[in-house]
Amino acid sequence: MDDLLLGKRDKRGDWSPNARAEIAPFWSWPPQLPKILSWLPGYFWPWNAFHMATTLVYWAWVIPSIETMKTLSWGWALWLYAVNAVCIFVMYGAIEFFYYIKRKQGTRFKYNGKFPADAPSDVFWFKSQNIDNFLRTYLFGIPMWTLVEVLMLWVFANGWAPWLSWSQHPLYLAFLVLIAPAIHELHFFVIHRAIHTPFLYKWVHSVHHNSINPSPWSSLSMHPVETFIYHGVALWHLIIPSNPIVALFQLHMAGFGAVNGHIGFEELELTGDAALGSHGYLHYLHHKYFEVNYGADGLVPLDWLFGTWHDGSKEGDALMQARYDKKRARMNAQKAKSGTSA
Ligand SMILES: [Zn+2]
Ligand SMILES: [Zn+2]
Repeated sequence: MDDLLLGKRDKRGDWSPNARAEIAPFWSWPPQLPKILSWLPGYFWPWNAFHMATTLVYWAWVIPSIETMKTLSWGWALWLYAVNAVCIFVMYGAIEFFYYIKRKQGTRFKYNGKFPADAPSDVFWFKSQNIDNFLRTYLFGIPMWTLVEVLMLWVFANGWAPWLSWSQHPLYLAFLVLIAPAIHELHFFVIHRAIHTPFLYKWVHSVHHNSINPSPWSSLSMHPVETFIYHGVALWHLIIPSNPIVALFQLHMAGFGAVNGHIGFEELELTGDAALGSHGYLHYLHHKYFEVNYGADGLVPLDWLFGTWHDGSKEGDALMQARYDKKRARMNAQKAKSGTSA
């Protein structure tokens, strides 16, 4: 595929899309029905459909019986860890293998022209982004995901949270499934904005931001506190009346879905002209510039509302620069003030 039909490459070899990122079209006024209709299929297919498919497979074959889950025990917790670990190895590992090790499409559609493996750095364990990120995924990322999963299932199994049945509340539960991506973005924006405050950034979130040029293994490479509150989005379903399948779907959207923002390519070429869109550019820009795009892809446009939206355009750059200049001026003024009062 010719990536220059859809974007451009700069002197450094970094590719960027021509089209500006847009917030979900149902926020525009007056409503633009054709735009909403053309946006809808991408809302379901392929990613959210994939997360629902893995959820149903888990529910049918992986999640233990209600009786077992009434009691906390290492047996079923380790079983869930093992399944999550293997599934992530297969999914993230396949992307890593074909696009980062084999480099089957070179740097076509790649946001950053360089590959992390070619840039050893002291910030990483063993100076390797891949080894560091892989180890953190298995030592902290997946254990915390599993901890949230175990707590959530244990509470449901004991009847301590409102568990609605599909036969009695089909419309309400279908609605919850439909808005689960919005719950994800809302939760993610709030916790992400919080861990960008100086103290939490230094002690918690900086681990994830070591990867300025993220790749699949960067997705769940986080401080344990971050990965717990990130996957903790599923615990909302213990508060709002829900169902463990919807809660599991919410969890899979976080765990499996984390890879989207860290794929590093706009499109993953499959065969012939078929390609898989990553929806990853906005989060790539977050890793590049740090203080833009705290949310996901603008389904709930909080970045747009709070002035931190960067749509990938030159105007987006200028807005970000103006914000940085203002912040610097404010900090300098503060410094000068404390200097005179001292
Ligand atoms: Zn990230
Ligand atoms: Zn961040």
